[in-house]
Amino acid sequence: MQIKTILNRVQKYQSFIYTDFTLKEHDNQLEMEIAIQPRGNSRPVCSQCGNKCSGYDTLPGRRFEFVPFWGILVFFVYAMRRVNCPDCGIKVERVPWSDGKRTVTNTYAWFLARWAKRLSWSQTAEAFRTSWYTVYSSVEMAVQWGRANVNLSGITAIGVDELCWGRWHRYVTVVYQINRDAVRLLWIGENRSAKTLLRFFRWFGKERTIHLEYICSDMWKPYLKVIAKKAWQAIHILDRFHIVAHINKAIDQVRAAEAKELEHKGYVPVLKKNRWLFLKRRENLTDKQDTSLAALLQYNLKTVRSYLLKEDFQSFWEYNSPYWASVFLDRWCTRAMRCRIEPMKKVALMLRRHRELILNWFRARKEFSSGVVEGLNAKAKLTTRKAYGFKSFKTLELALYHNLDVCVKSLLKRRYRALIISQTPGNAI
Ligand SMILES: [Zn+2]
Repeated sequence: MQIKTILNRVQKYQSFIYTDFTLKEHDNQLEMEIAIQPRGNSRPVCSQCGNKCSGYDTLPGRRFEFVPFWGILVFFVYAMRRVNCPDCGIKVERVPWSDGKRTVTNTYAWFLARWAKRLSWSQTAEAFRTSWYTVYSSVEMAVQWGRANVNLSGITAIGVDELCWGRWHRYVTVVYQINRDAVRLLWIGENRSAKTLLRFFRWFGKERTIHLEYICSDMWKPYLKVIAKKAWQAIHILDRFHIVAHINKAIDQVRAAEAKELEHKGYVPVLKKNRWLFLKRRENLTDKQDTSLAALLQYNLKTVRSYLLKEDFQSFWEYNSPYWASVFLDRWCTRAMRCRIEPMKKVALMLRRHRELILNWFRARKEFSSGVVEGLNAKAKLTTRKAYGFKSFKTLELALYHNLDVCVKSLLKRRYRALIISQTPGNAI
C-alpha cells in the first residue's frame, strides 16, 4: 500500500492532489515532504469572499506541518496562488488544509490542541518535535473556533470568581456556567474591578442576563455591586467554598501568631509544623494526624478555640430551612464575637454583614451543586500554575479557555481534593 493511498483515505481534498513524496534527513531527523498541486481544471478561490476567480500569480512554495508518523516529521509543500478577485482585488487563495496564515495544517493543529490539554504546551512541543509557538497557535485556533461557536442558550446559573496569577499577583475575573447539566468557563476578563464584570454583562447581553436565576460569588465588593445592579432579579449566593476559605484563613492567622507567642515565652512549640491539622476536615485526617490533633485539643489555646468554632460551623451547611440556618448563624456569630480572638471576630463581622446573601445558599441549594465551583476553581488554579510560560494575559486567557471549556463532571468526583487545594490559605482570596 502506498502512502498516497493512505493519505487519500484520511485527508482527501477535492481540488488538490498529492503529487510527490520525498524523504529527507535534516539535523538527524527524518522529514517527509508531500508536494501538493491544484487539480488541472480547478480555479483558485479568493480567501476573502470565497468565490472562484482567475489566477494572478504563484508565490514561492511553503511548508505546512502535518501530523508526524513513525517518528518522521511530515510537511505539505505547496506554492500558494494569488487570485485577481473582481470584488476584493489581489488576494492569496484559500486552501482547505490551513487558514493560510499559520504554518501548521488544521488537522495537525487540532491534534496538538488536544494533546495540549493533557500536557503543558512546552511538553507537547517537545513530544512532537515542534515549536512552542506552533502549539500556542494551535490552541489559539481551537479556542477561537470554540468561542465563535459557543452556545449561550439555557444559562440560568453562573458563578463569578477571581484568580490570582503571575509573579506580580495580577488578577483575572472568571465567570462560569454552573447549571446542573452544564458546567464550564464562560468568560475571562483582566483585573477584578467593577469595570471588568460590567464587561462580562455587556458581552453576555441584556436578554440572557434577564434569564439568570442564580449567581454565585465571593464577597469582593465590586462584584457584589455590579451583580446587584445588573442582575437584580437573580438570587445572589455567597458560595460555601469562599466562606470556608475565609474561616480557614482566620485560623491560620491565629495559629501563626500564637505559635510565635509560645516560642517567645519559651513554651513547648506545640503549634509548630501542624498547620494542616487545623485546616483539613477532621474526617480526612490520617489516624496519626487525628491522634496528634486530639492531643492538641487538650490545650487551652486560641488556635484550639478557633478550630472548635470552625468545626462547629460545619453543621451550618446541614440545615434545610433558611430560617433555622439563620438562627444558627446568628448564634455562631455571637459566640465568635465573644471569643476575644481578633481574626475570628473579623470573620463573624463579615458573615453578619453578608447575612442575607449567605442565607441565599439555602434558598438555592437544590438548584445546583456547590462542589461545581470548587472543582472549577481548582482546575483553573492548576492551569495558572502549570508551566505554560505565561507572560501575558492573552496566553493565560487561551490556556484557561482551552482547559475549562468542557463539562467538568469528572472534577466533581475529585471534589474533596479540589477543596483542599483551593483552601490553602495562601491561595484563599
Ligand atoms: Zn474576493
